[in-house]
Amino acid sequence: MKTESILDQHNLSKTPCRVDIINTLTSVDVALTENQIKKNLKFDYDRATIFRTLKTFSEKGIIHCVPVEGNEVYYAISKPNYKQTLSHAHFHCNSCGGVYCLNSISIAEPQLPEGFSANKYELTINGCCKKCNE
Ligand SMILES: [Zn+2]
Ligand SMILES: [Zn+2]
Repeated sequence: MKTESILDQHNLSKTPCRVDIINTLTSVDVALTENQIKKNLKFDYDRATIFRTLKTFSEKGIIHCVPVEGNEVYYAISKPNYKQTLSHAHFHCNSCGGVYCLNSISIAEPQLPEGFSANKYELTINGCCKKCNE
């Protein structure tokens, strides 16, 4: 999907920073930290603008955060075909540090004790990615 139509769909105006961040996240197949995003942007926006944009995108479901143990927060674009955007698995490569969304593997919904209810569950697998295994 085009960056402009993603913004239109969520009634967001097309500010340069918003367009730049979506372009950056859609051009890679890995999740990126705020610093990695900043490095890839065409212009040098201030931190507050980038932070605010990432927050807006998360709230709108355009992107999602990936928790990586002991690391910064990673951000990935949410593809429209993701069945449950918040409940797909992620992979963290211990060798290159790459963080990937794994939409093709299904993760079973955890069976909770009586009286508990979940609205989000996460699975992050640590290991060695395809590139590093070759
Ligand atoms: Zn790797
Ligand atoms: Zn993901």
